[in-house]
Order: sequence, then C-alpha cells, then structure tokens
Amino acid sequence: MSEKRNKIDRRNFLKTVGAAGLGSVYICGSASGAGEPSKAGDVKKKAKKEESKLPQVPTRPISSKISERVPILSLGAMFNVSQNQVILRKCLDWGVNYWDTANSYAGGTSETGIGNFLEANPDVRKDVFIVSKASRAESMEDVEARLQTSLKRMKTSYIDLYYGVHAMNNPADLTDELRKWAESAKKRKLIRYFGFSTHKNMAECLLAASKLDWIDAIMTTYNYRVMQDEKLESAVEQCFSKGIGLIAMKVQARGQKIEAKGDRAIAAKFLQSDYSEGQAKLKSVLQDERFCSACTKMQNIAMLTSNVAASLDRTTLSRSDMDVLKGYAAGSCGGYCAGCANICDSVLPDAGYVSDVMRYLMYYNSYGEQERARASFARIPRAVRSRLLGVDYKAAEAKCPQGLAIGKLVAEAVSKLA
Ligand code: SF4
Repeated sequence: MSEKRNKIDRRNFLKTVGAAGLGSVYICGSASGAGEPSKAGDVKKKAKKEESKLPQVPTRPISSKISERVPILSLGAMFNVSQNQVILRKCLDWGVNYWDTANSYAGGTSETGIGNFLEANPDVRKDVFIVSKASRAESMEDVEARLQTSLKRMKTSYIDLYYGVHAMNNPADLTDELRKWAESAKKRKLIRYFGFSTHKNMAECLLAASKLDWIDAIMTTYNYRVMQDEKLESAVEQCFSKGIGLIAMKVQARGQKIEAKGDRAIAAKFLQSDYSEGQAKLKSVLQDERFCSACTKMQNIAMLTSNVAASLDRTTLSRSDMDVLKGYAAGSCGGYCAGCANICDSVLPDAGYVSDVMRYLMYYNSYGEQERARASFARIPRAVRSRLLGVDYKAAEAKCPQGLAIGKLVAEAVSKLA
C-alpha cells in the first residue's frame, strides 16, 4: 500500500472514528452490507460480527517484572458508572479492559456501576483489569475498610491493582506498616498487585518508591507539560529501570482556561497532521514505552473513540511535533499547576493546600465538574479556608516554576468554590 494511501486511511480513521463515535461505525457497518437483514436475530448476529471485527487497542507488559499485558489506553472511571453501563461495554469492544476507579469516585457510584456490570456479565471479570484506591484513608484500618467496601461494591473477590495510598504527596506514607498490609492483602488473595497514585510531589514519591522492592505499580500525573521537568523524568526512569509499572494520568494536562498565544496555532498545526490537539497530547504520552498505560476519563463514546483512534494509530509524533507541544507548554504554563507543592509550600503558612486549590479550580474551569470542585474544596479544613484570602502569595509566586499568579487564582477559587 502506498504511503499516500496509508495517510488517507489514517486520516479517515482518526477523523471518522474519533469525531463521530462508535454509533456511526455500527450504522455504516450495517448500511454498507449486501442488504438489510430481514429478522431481528440477523441484525443482532450481524452487529456482533461487526463488533468482533473492531481493532483492539495495543497492549504492553505492566513492567519488566510483571509480564501481564494491559491496554495502552485505560478507562478513568471517575463518574457515575451506574448510570453509564454502555461505556464499559464499548470499552471492551475496543480492548480497553483496564478500568481505573477509586473508593471516592462519584460518591461510590463508579465502583457500584462496575459491580452492576460484572453482576450482569459474570464472564467478563477474568478479562478485566480492575484498579481501585483507598481514598482518604488515614490508618491501616481505613485502608482495609476501603478495600472491603470496594470489593463489595464491585461484587468481586479481588482487585487486580490496589493503590493503598490515593494521591500520595509525601514519601513518608510508604511505611513498613503499609508494606505489611500490602503483603497480607496479597496473601489473602484480595489484591494481586500493590502501589499508589500521586499527582502532587510526584518526583519525590516516585524516587522514594524506586528504592523499595514492594511497590508493583504507580499511577502518576504525566503529560507533555510535566515531562519537561528533569527531576520527574529522572524519577520516572528510576522506577522504570527498577521494574515498577507506570501508569500515566492527567495525560492531556488541562489547566485553567487561560487563553495562550499558541492556543489556535497548536490546534491548527495538529489538524494538519490529521490529529486533534487532544489526540496529539495523548500520543505524546502513549509513545513513551516506559508507561504501560495512559489513563484518562472517558465518560462518553466521543471521548472513548477519539482516544481509541489515537491509540490505534501507529505513527509517532515527530520531533517537530514534540517541540510544538514543548513550546506550547512553556507559553501557557501560567495556567497549569504542575503539582510541585514542596516548592510553594516552603514559603506558605498553611503548607499543603495551594496546589489542591489550584487542582479544584481546574476541575471547575476545565473539567466542568463544579460539584466535585466544590465538594473537594469543602474538605479543606475550615480554618485554612478562612485564611486563604489573607495570605500574601508573592513569595510563593516568585518560587513557582510555572509562574502561576497564585494570589489571583486563589481568589478566583474562593469566589467560585466557597
Ligand atoms: S502553585 Fe506553582 S509551585 Fe505550587 S504546586 Fe503549583 S506549580 Fe508548583
């Protein structure tokens, strides 16, 4: 097949599948056949045949120590899965059988929804890789209780990968107590692999984990913005070389909606290359083979198929594409909190909260998740919330490598989230 033909096929695939969604694929499939099926049974059989023809998202081994393979694209299920069962079925159709949930997601309805699906489709459990997290656990008793709740909600006897710390920001959380708990949970066959997730002080957390021999996998924020951070890059390399599985999250790096000079230029550039801007950002992570999977929230078919299209497309971003993303990251960094909280915390009176406030504002402004943003903000201790507007953020702004207008953004967060 000529290169030109390949390019056209790829363009058609990325644009048609990515933009239109699976519904169109099925409709095209049945309309382009030798005629309309005469019976309802024939329609079902034909649809099933079409489904089985769907290409499958490529897989990678979890790590050099764990040869089990997972799809390079995984479902971030931080939404009400009880009301959205179809997305799980569609994920399976494309081979996206790695589902990431957490005890706290959507008030528990993410896990309950997975449980409902597994109850209705018991044969599926063995084919799905389920990940959950001990959200807001403050003791080993909490971790155990979260796990038991998750198992009950998901109607399963085991979780494939369990993050005993959800959103770790302090390496001191990697205690011997936690190691013993992880070993016990594995021995009881309640979990298969153990690790943690992190989106704050990621470099420090990863580096600490790379020195231990009991962390199987870590989910960390990783995208075209934070990959420019040498400290994080080195920590990623350390974990990878020690055989710790790595899963990327927040891969499209949506920050605050601050209009950057390059916004339109970047979209135009990637459309010329047959990608949407979002697909290009996802591909920049997918092509880093140190990560076994990129996890992203996909609560509708359009999101799923756009990301599946980017995952199936075998071309890699060129050096010049990566340079465009790097330039865009530099030009628009003032809208993105990179989670390097130890930097701003070192000069703030209430350490540990500013990067959280930035993230909650991002949920509000960029994810359109107003309720989640307000609920998360409300969990900041009342005394800290009441002090937020009285703090002088100049020293923190001077230290912030992203050049964030922290004071202004905190004020915006208080006005929208309080
Ligand atoms: S506000 Fe700046 S220094 Fe603080 S975590 Fe965010 S990017 Fe890092």
